[in-house]
Amino acid sequence: SVRVRFPPSPTGDPHVGMVRSALFNYAFARHYGGKLVLRIEDTDAARNTEESYQAILNTLRWTGIEWDEGPEVGGEFGPYRQSERGEIYADTAAKLLEAGKAYPCYCTAEELEAAREKAKAEKRAPGYEGTCRNLTAEQIAAYEAEGRTHVVRFRMPENRTISWDDLVRGAISFESVNVPDYPLLRADGSPLYTLTNPTDDALMGITHVLRGEDLLSSTPRQIPLHEALVELGLSKGVPEFGHLPFVMGEGNKKLSKRDPEASFSFYPRTGYLPEGLVNYLALLGWSLGNDEEIFSLDELVAAFDGTRVSANPARFDLKKCEAINAVHLRALETEDLAKRILPFLDREGLLLGGTDGHLANEEEWRTLLAAVPLVQERMTVLSEAIGMLGFLYTGDGSDARHAFALNEDDAAKVLTADAWPTLTAAFAALDALPEWTAAAIDEALRTALIEGLGLKPKNAFTPVRVAVTGRRVSPPLFESLELLGRERTLARLRAADA
Ligand code: GLU
Repeated sequence: SVRVRFPPSPTGDPHVGMVRSALFNYAFARHYGGKLVLRIEDTDAARNTEESYQAILNTLRWTGIEWDEGPEVGGEFGPYRQSERGEIYADTAAKLLEAGKAYPCYCTAEELEAAREKAKAEKRAPGYEGTCRNLTAEQIAAYEAEGRTHVVRFRMPENRTISWDDLVRGAISFESVNVPDYPLLRADGSPLYTLTNPTDDALMGITHVLRGEDLLSSTPRQIPLHEALVELGLSKGVPEFGHLPFVMGEGNKKLSKRDPEASFSFYPRTGYLPEGLVNYLALLGWSLGNDEEIFSLDELVAAFDGTRVSANPARFDLKKCEAINAVHLRALETEDLAKRILPFLDREGLLLGGTDGHLANEEEWRTLLAAVPLVQERMTVLSEAIGMLGFLYTGDGSDARHAFALNEDDAAKVLTADAWPTLTAAFAALDALPEWTAAAIDEALRTALIEGLGLKPKNAFTPVRVAVTGRRVSPPLFESLELLGRERTLARLRAADA
């Protein structure tokens, strides 16, 4: 049965390319009723951080990508952190050495450099030339006596065409003469990616390797190693490979760590929904096969059979990501959306909060439930709720809330002396209003400002809107005032009119 893996190295912030790889592997595993293995490739002690490791797990959880084996869930092929698998690699390297599939190389850095220079001067491709491939026992003993250290290199098969049927790119082949013998162990005996990654894929029974195109050039090195592991009885078979297309950013350059939208953390922070991000990331190199671009994780799983992954570079388009997110956001139930907005209001310190660790108290929650339908159609990401609804969660000096603040630009443009008569009339009309409903507010303001003062609707309502919500763009005005309540509405009108 299908077994795939997601093997991140915990160095730095998770990026979107990585999440896409995880997503495709997850969808592939689920589609075929197989297993997804999460393996942490943390052999580079100098670059790994615990923070990055935690961020990777949180990223997968947020996204809804569940792993069947790996850290925190365990599994029969553990441990799943390479830093805990040192003995396994030492053992594998010893078996490869013993079978003559790998050999010690005593070349010094200077010697390798000199060989590279020479190849360059003679216009040959630089690369290890097999200097130590056939050392005799005497030569080895002599190097050891000299006190030289050695790396361990894999012995590439000679005169072979290494080919595979790439799940994404079709038939690919390399000639083994163009693939130099490569190191598996450093001189200090520590294992390199070149050994740990295929060894674990073999021992963990991985059937399909779906990974980024940046790793395509390592596949012709890894296939012969897999074959050697099969011969040694350490593996049941060479996995199939599929290389996912590059993700391009601005200016058709590879999306780089410097692009803010490349960093995964941007999305939860800005208030993208997992549903929206998953949908968009899946479109980076894959499609449902019809024109439908909106789908859920479950629908992705149902359709993701590994075909229809494109070999063409995918273009990352934040605007499109936003638009797709908006579709998912607008489809949420009121209560669901309200729950997701709460942490954003809380993050801004806008909520007094309830007891028992509730982010909102009852009144704050009721206000939000009433406000969400007013803004849902206008939102694309959750953080926009802060600007749109913040005015409902601020006080006017007399209560314990954050103080209400006007947007300075909007206030400077709109709340000029010209607006004072409008604000005065609005205050008087609302102060006298017997019932505080959107309909009554609507009628009272129209009567006072449009009929009474002869203003056009825009000139009548914009000053009221800015005075009360703080901004020129707000949820519908009369409903906003109803939700805000008479007391705060009047206080804000009075303050703006001063
Ligand atoms: N740890 C490697 C990386 O993050 C994994 C590469 C692979 O998928 O084989 O680049």
